Amino acid sequence: MVADAETFGDPTTAEFWAAARRHALVIQRCGGCGSHQFYPRPFCLSCGSGVLTWVRAVGTATVYSMTEIHMAPSPEFEIPYVVAIVELDEGPKMMTNLINGRCRIGDRVRLAWRAREGKPPLPVFEPVAGGA
Ligand code: ZN
Repeated sequence: MVADAETFGDPTTAEFWAAARRHALVIQRCGGCGSHQFYPRPFCLSCGSGVLTWVRAVGTATVYSMTEIHMAPSPEFEIPYVVAIVELDEGPKMMTNLINGRCRIGDRVRLAWRAREGKPPLPVFEPVAGGA
């Protein structure tokens, strides 16, 4: 849970949230095999190396999967909203929300940020200009 990680200051995700406060989406890159991964982990999923560095993602992605939610889980959610998995151009998939227009699976999207009261902003995605 994102909220728990923020609340408890998980050292594995601390750099991610610090970057998010600067509106930078960062992912891990393995020093052993070069693969990228998200969400943050203490080791590389591909080769097991613990030598991971943070790199800034370019912020463009392709919609991999999506669904529109019509029932709010709590009052802070404004319905309808779209939950999606996007594939970052670096490779990793990321669960997020799609905003600012309709998308379809396979559409190109770009990074945006949703401000939150008293918390780091959340990375969300929107259609690229001229998209569907
Ligand atoms: Zn690796």
